[in-house]
Order: sequence, then structure tokens, then C-alpha cells
Amino acid sequence: MASIALASFVAAQASPPTSQSSPAPRQSRSPHDPTRADILRGGYGPYRANNHLLFYHLDIRVDPEKKFISGKNTIRFKMLKDDSRIQLDLSEVLKIDKILFADTQLEYERDSGAVFVDFPAALRAGQAYSIDFYYSGSPTQTGRFGGFTFGKDPAGHPWIYTACEGVGASIWWPNKDQWRDEVENMQISVSIPNGLIDVSNGKFMGTTDLGDGYTRWDWLVHYPINNYDVSLNIGNYRHFSDRLRGLPMDFYALPEDLDKAKKQFTQAKGMLQAFQHYFGEYPFKKDGYKLIEVPYSGMEHQSAVTYGNHFVNGYLERDWTGVGISPRFDFIIVHESGHEWFGNSITAADSSDMWIHEGWTTYLESLYVEYMYGHDDAIKYLNGYKSKVKNEEPILTARGVHGEPPVDQYFKGALLINTLRSVVNDDKRWWNLLHHLYQHFKYQNIMTEDMVEYFNQQTGMNLTPIFDQYLRHTAIPTLELKFDDNSSSVSYRWNADEPEFQMPVRVGKRGQWQIVRATSHWQTLPTRWKRDEFEVATDLYYVNVVKE
Ligand SMILES: [Zn+2]
Repeated sequence: MASIALASFVAAQASPPTSQSSPAPRQSRSPHDPTRADILRGGYGPYRANNHLLFYHLDIRVDPEKKFISGKNTIRFKMLKDDSRIQLDLSEVLKIDKILFADTQLEYERDSGAVFVDFPAALRAGQAYSIDFYYSGSPTQTGRFGGFTFGKDPAGHPWIYTACEGVGASIWWPNKDQWRDEVENMQISVSIPNGLIDVSNGKFMGTTDLGDGYTRWDWLVHYPINNYDVSLNIGNYRHFSDRLRGLPMDFYALPEDLDKAKKQFTQAKGMLQAFQHYFGEYPFKKDGYKLIEVPYSGMEHQSAVTYGNHFVNGYLERDWTGVGISPRFDFIIVHESGHEWFGNSITAADSSDMWIHEGWTTYLESLYVEYMYGHDDAIKYLNGYKSKVKNEEPILTARGVHGEPPVDQYFKGALLINTLRSVVNDDKRWWNLLHHLYQHFKYQNIMTEDMVEYFNQQTGMNLTPIFDQYLRHTAIPTLELKFDDNSSSVSYRWNADEPEFQMPVRVGKRGQWQIVRATSHWQTLPTRWKRDEFEVATDLYYVNVVKE
């Protein structure tokens, strides 16, 4: 997420950048009984599971004066079983004008944010169908990133943008608002007053003067896309561009920030080179890569990453991991764009497993550091995250319920991945594993189990108890050590919630590590290091150590 996901931190700031001093960490979510709306939004009920999305054409008109939007989404889908009802979603504050199936006006039933659409006769499994969903209204400015915001830039021009991860895309347009299913491609048409620019996802296809003071901006997304990634950014933008080999790179900033943007956005090339090095080609080549200035900190909108990090390195002018490395690069360019690989190309099929977006992208930050500055700085950068881990709630949350996992999905998720690297203990193998993992799952919506199974297959190890300990429990494993200085030996075992937990770990003396295959049972190792001298490589494994 957005960034920030950090966004979590980044959050909700729809106000101009000048008002953001420091990001406030999000409160931990306390467990609660899901509401009916949470279940309708988060579940994959029968009227969602009976169809598969093929295509959206979102075609809307945005009136900055009236703060009003109107238009339609053409939704093409294939039925997976015979049925006469499907579930879509649209915020209750927006009006449904009509839903057309060819010339037939369809009946529908609204239930909190859900819209159950009824067809006059059963649709047939295997057949593709298309409906036009007309709607209008004034969408809400809300949520961590602003939802849909009718703002103004510092010079007084309209500055209108969407950022709806969490609250959901149905806050501003009708769609099947869940994570499991994605359209194969999408057309986005945004009609706005002449003189403004809309930047949305995908490839720019051109403008059409509508002759009434409005111009339509057309964009074509050539790839599957998450609902929450779909965005519009309307403003008095200036555009400049670059290329990385065959990849078009387009940048949009306000006139007063143009010089700063031209300087700061040069970092995008190094970022792309780093992630292409580890994972392979940028996932959305036909759509190009875009960076667009916005007043909130940033969001990973697919192929149209939004940026509000003040054109300064670090994160909102802070040293993000507190170890002196973050000030060398622009956190938002690196983190939000890293989501193009993990979050946008590989997507979690349920928001419960959102660490696939955030834990991985947080780890990608350290890969950027490693690519640019080497291994030791990457490890230092990652270890800076430890102070942000709470270990209060499991990273994986209830499935089928709308909600957001706790902030540990970021930092603890990244530390888990770094721990796995040490478990694999062969960097050549590790880089291959990462590359193939991405290539195997790209453009797919997956769950944690898919990833664990892949790791187990590729490594030949049973890593399931390790993943489970870090993702499904609050505590990290503790290595218990008992010293017998008289016999020059140490006894060791893991204390963990997972009964089958075992993990090799480097112990002894830095520079001369020995690997012990610790399990939950006591074992003994001869050592010449005394209790106070004996070390564990806690920078390479995210674990606790207790010496008795
Ligand atoms: Zn993120």
C-alpha cells in the first residue's frame, strides 16, 4: 500500500504537504466483530464467485465547481455458473442512475455498499456479458489517503485526486470491489474542464474536445489491475518524459515544483534498474511508468505512482529507518514503485494477506539499498525496522472480512524475508529464488499458502513452521541458551508457538559463525566462547535470544 503504505503512515493526509510534519503511526486495530458491510465487502460470496471479470470501461465527467461526478462503468464479465444475480459495489452516498443490459434496465438491490444486480433470466456459464452501470453524485473525501478529494493547488487551480486503498474503489466508481478477481484490461475516460490535465493508469490514448468547455482524457490499461489502483489525478500539471531502454517514463508536477521534480525524479531510473535486476522486466511496459505529484505522501497506483514526498530524500523529510541510509534516496519513489512488482503485478487475493504487498515491498527497499550501496548497508537498513515492530497481533488477519492487517505486515514482514535469506544461506540460490518467485506469480492474485508452497518446493526445506510463526502468531521465536562454562558447551533450543518450529541459525563469534540446526528440543554444542562472548547473528535472523 500505499504507501505507504506506509501509507499507513502516510496516510490520510489530504492536506497540502506543508502541513505534514511527521507521519503519525496508525493505531493498532483491535479485533472486532465484523459488520455486515465488512462481510459484504471482504467476502467472496456466491454472487461474486459466480462470475469472472474481463474488462471495465470507466467513463466519467468530473465537475470541479459542483464537486460532482457522473458517468458509467461498462463491466464485461464471464459467468462461471448459471445464475441471474451478481454482486457489485458502490458507496451508498452515490446515486445509481440506471443499470443497462443491452436495452433492458435491470433491477437491483442495495445493501450497505453492495449492489445486487438481477437479470431477467439466468445468464449462462461460460458466456461473456456486459452491462452499463450509470451513476452520479459527490464522492466522499475520507480514509487514509483522501478517498476522492476535490482540492486546490497552492496557486488556486483545481487539484482532484483519488487514493482509495482500504476504503475501496467503490467509494467513487461502481465495480466488483474485492481483491480476488481483476479485469484483464481497462479503459479509463475522464472528462474535465479544458486547460486541466488528467493522469490515470495505463497508456495515454489522446484527448477529445467535447465542445462544451470539457475535454475527455483517454487511458488504456493493458494489464490486470487492482480496483484500488485505478486512479485519476486532475490538475494544472506540467509534463516531462524520459526513457529507460524501451520503457516510456512520464512525469507530472505542478509548475512551481517542476525544477525540483526534474531533479528528484531522476531517481526513478535507478529504482527501475534495481528492481529489474532482481525480478525481471518492469511489469507494465506497454503502459509505461509514471510519477505524478499529489498533496498526500504517495500511493502505488499501477503504472501511475503518485508522489508527495516534498522532493526530498528520506520519508517526509525524516530518516525512515533511523540508521543514516534512508536520507540517501527518496523513500516514496522506491517504496511505491516497488509495489509495481509486489502489490500490483503479484496481488494478494484477500486483504488478510496484504503482507504480500507490504512486507515484500518493504523488503524491496532493502534490495534497492543492496543494489546501490551493498550488502552491509542493506542489513543495517533492515535492522532499523526492528524498532517499528509491535508484535501485538498476527500479521495475517481474518479472511473474507474487509479490514487491514496491522502495521507489522510491513516491518516484521520484511524482517521475516531477510530471515529466510539467512535460512537459505546461499545468496546465489536466494537471488534465483526471488527472481523465479516473481516470474512464477506475476499478474496473479495469490494467498500466503501459495507463496509458502513455492518456497518449500524451491528450497526442498519445510519452511511452513517458520512462515507460520512469524505470520500467524504475535511472538517471534526465542533462542534459549544454557551455558556450562566448565565443560565448554552450550545447550540451545527454540521457544516458539509452532510446535514443529525449527530453524538453522548462526551462533558463536561474528566472522567465525557456526550454524546450528536448532529445534524445540535441547541440543548441546561444544564452544570455546563463554556466556558473555557467545553471540547469535540477530542482524540476519529476526529472533530473540535468552541466555540462562
Ligand atoms: Zn506500501
